[in-house]
Amino acid sequence: MDYYALPIADLIEQLSKLPGIGKKTAQRLAFYVLEMDPLEVEKLATSIINAKEKIRYCKQCFNLTDDELCSICKDRGRDESLICVVEGARDIVAMEKTREFKGLYHVLHGVISPMKNIGPDDIRIKELLNRAYDSQVKEIILALNPTVEGEATSLYIAKILKPLGIKTTRIAHGIPVGGDLEYFDEVTLSKAMENRREL
Ligand SMILES: [Zn+2]
Repeated sequence: MDYYALPIADLIEQLSKLPGIGKKTAQRLAFYVLEMDPLEVEKLATSIINAKEKIRYCKQCFNLTDDELCSICKDRGRDESLICVVEGARDIVAMEKTREFKGLYHVLHGVISPMKNIGPDDIRIKELLNRAYDSQVKEIILALNPTVEGEATSLYIAKILKPLGIKTTRIAHGIPVGGDLEYFDEVTLSKAMENRREL
């Protein structure tokens, strides 16, 4: 990349570190930034630094927030007897869009993965257990991704919650709406069978 002036080469390099941004896209974005109004560039840079500085984990559910507690944990209208366990903070956004769930969340920030050297202590399982001891918690809903690691993590959590006598459930995994049976893999199909309901 010798033919770029150093500040441009540097900008391209930093942008290409972002997920889904290849060298070509990074170049295009870098040239776009150079064409932008200086004020707009400043706003962009400031918003990146601001977000990084101000956003932290909610001390109760580990959702992302700019306060001690996230807006969901602060909401008095939520059902505190239900905790939905998810892998990442983005899953909360997906869940909230359905408007189905009125309880609280718990973000694990990952799943157990021996392949990636991630054990139970590396994700927020201990903190979930601490919350589960609270007498008002009646049900813990596991909403992890239907991957091998997600399944193993769900089973692990169900096992450690069992002695506490709290109802532990898992969301049904199955056929997406608008899907075509013949195109699903056997895990999806068998999960759909397993979670069948009476009509
Ligand atoms: Zn929270």
